[in-house]
This record gives sequence, structure tokens and C-alpha cells, in this order.
Amino acid sequence: MSYDLTQDIQEIINRIEKARISFKDKTILVTGGAGFLGSWMCDVLVQQGATCICLDNLSSGLHENIAHLEGKDNFRFIKHDIATPIYFGEKTHPSAPCVSDVGKIDIVMHMASRASPFEFKTYPIQILKSNTLGTWIALGIAKKHNALFFYTSTSEVYGNPPPEMVPTPETYHGNVNPIGPRGCYDEAKRAGEAYVKAYELQHGIKTKIVRIFNTSGPRIRHGSEYGRVVPNFINQALNDEDITVFGDGSQTRSFTYVVDEIEGFLKFVGNNNASGQVINIGSNKQFTILELAEIIIDLTSSSSKIIFKSLPKDDPLRRSPDLTRARQILGWEPTTSLKDGLSKTITWFKAHGGKE
Ligand code: UDP
Repeated sequence: MSYDLTQDIQEIINRIEKARISFKDKTILVTGGAGFLGSWMCDVLVQQGATCICLDNLSSGLHENIAHLEGKDNFRFIKHDIATPIYFGEKTHPSAPCVSDVGKIDIVMHMASRASPFEFKTYPIQILKSNTLGTWIALGIAKKHNALFFYTSTSEVYGNPPPEMVPTPETYHGNVNPIGPRGCYDEAKRAGEAYVKAYELQHGIKTKIVRIFNTSGPRIRHGSEYGRVVPNFINQALNDEDITVFGDGSQTRSFTYVVDEIEGFLKFVGNNNASGQVINIGSNKQFTILELAEIIIDLTSSSSKIIFKSLPKDDPLRRSPDLTRARQILGWEPTTSLKDGLSKTITWFKAHGGKE
């Protein structure tokens, strides 16, 4: 059984075209383009008629996410680690790779990074590099091409906010432990944001920073070792295994379906009045992790039992975005219910048999 994303991709295009946003004839570099969100982005851009250059070192991204795009005139895949230099256009560095047959790049979307807390202990250096050195190199490409720079940051820059700061506005500066188990990701993204602002200030390039909240949908990484809550619970439920709730399950997250998320990104990137902005994109409907487990058991008609395991250190107690900016500046808010998004994700999991 295969799973067809065509309708969802068309849905994103319909929504952004309704807002009169088009990337047709633009040349767009997407780092991390073979990852979960990056590959959805490539699909939409290619379908809308942009020229899409997908850069990925395939360390966590999957070639199968973009294989169907290869061979199209307006798509190109380059296997490269953005944490090391690469040039587009004229060769300006004697030893770094150079892709010379590319014209002007209009937009650089820096989306490359591992994001699963389970990887923070295995790949902390790579995570730091893709968001610090990688952001720096991607910004250099944007500077050279006078391109708009779009950076996918994270709600993790807020760390563990106090109750009165949830829903969290973009003005909140965060409560982050730099040397804790999440430090490599949280601080890397915070440094990434600082790089973006530095290039805006010093070189005058146009920039946009999105802070992403928990997102799921088809193509989310789903090998059991990656351990994010939605793929974990779905895999466990489909196999009638115990559902592993960490802590007492009272911690909250707000889950966005990938179609809403990519729509939000593109409404931001395509908005002429949003340059220099930082905007939260995510769902603001909080669910406890225990509620999530129960919903997934219900949707899969699973006989799994819920078991409780210890809560990882520095695991945020609550997470939800204040969406005022997204509504006011972009006219965006998520419209897919948690159950609808999960149902589609479960259908995709069934088609993929839990493999990665
Ligand atoms: N979680 C859980 N069981 C799992 C995996 C995760 O209870 O098998 C919890 C985790 O402790 C966190 C929440 O689910 O409170 C979301 O975890 P995720 O890995 O998706 O990333 P996070 O939102 O913490 O960055």
C-alpha cells in the first residue's frame, strides 16, 4: 500500500494562492530539503513552478522523500552538509565545492537540523553545527545572492516557560539550560537566530525567522530510535505494544498538522510586510501527553496499555504558541484538528509499516 500526498500538497497551494502568494519562477535553496518538513516544502515549491534546489547530507533526511522529484526540470538535489562551505554561481573559494550552473537564488530556506530529543545525546555536535556554522554558511549564500533568508527556528528557544508565559509570545526571551540535555538544540537555535539578526544588521539582508511548535504528519521520522512522541505512540499503538508515557503525562504540547505548518511558512515567506519578523507557527490547542496517548489508542483501535516511565530531564511542562502575530501579520492559523491530522498520519504509518 502506498500513500499519496498529492491532495495535501495541492491543498497547501490552494491556500497560499488564495492569499495571492506564488513562488513561480523563483529560485529557492532549501537546506534540509530531504527531511520531514523540508521535503514537503520542496514538493510544494516544485508543484507551484519554482526552481527548487534541495541541499541535504542525508544524515537524517531520506532520499526517498525527494526521489519522486528527481528528473523534473525545476528540481535539483545536491548532497552536501550545510555546516561546511558550498558556493553557488561564481567560484569564490579555492577548495570549497561550487555549483556554478545556478543563476540568482531568490530565497534561501535554512531548514536543516535534527530535531528529536532522542538525538540530542547522540548527535549534539552535528545539531550545534547545522544551526550555527550551517546558518552562517546559508546566510553567506543569501548575502552573495541578495536573497531573502528564511530560518526555521523552534519553540525550544523558549525552553521551559513559566505558566504565565504559556501561550508564549515571541517577545518572551526563554528559560533555557545551556548545559542540559536539550542545550545542543535549544542554544544552537538561539545562536542561529542571533546569526540571522547579525546578517540583517550588518549586511542588510532580508530575513524571516519562524519558531516551529510540535508538528507531525506523513514523512515524520518514525524509526523507534528517534522517539518523538507522535511517531512513538502511533508505532506502539499499531503494534499493540505498551504506550510509553513519560512522567505522569500531564505535560502539554500543541500539535500541528504538516499541511497547516507549511501553509504558515509560505504565507510568512511570501508576505511583503513581514521582513525582519520572528513569528510563532504552530497549533495553540494544548493536549496533555496522556490525552494524546488515549486519542491515538482510540484512533487505531489498539489494545495497547499505557505505562509510565520517568520524565526526561528538562522536559518542558507546557508548550503552546501565542498566535497573535501569525493572525495579524499573516492572516494564518491552523485549521486541521488534532484527530484529523493524526488520522492522516496513522494512514501513512500503516502504508509505511514502521520502516525508515
Ligand atoms: N514523550 C512520551 N513518550 C514517548 C516520547 C515522548 O511521553 O515515548 C513525551 C516527552 O517526554 C515530551 C512529549 O512527549 O514531554 C513530547 O516529546 P517529543 O519527543 O515529541 O519532543 P518535545 O516536544 O519534548 O521536544
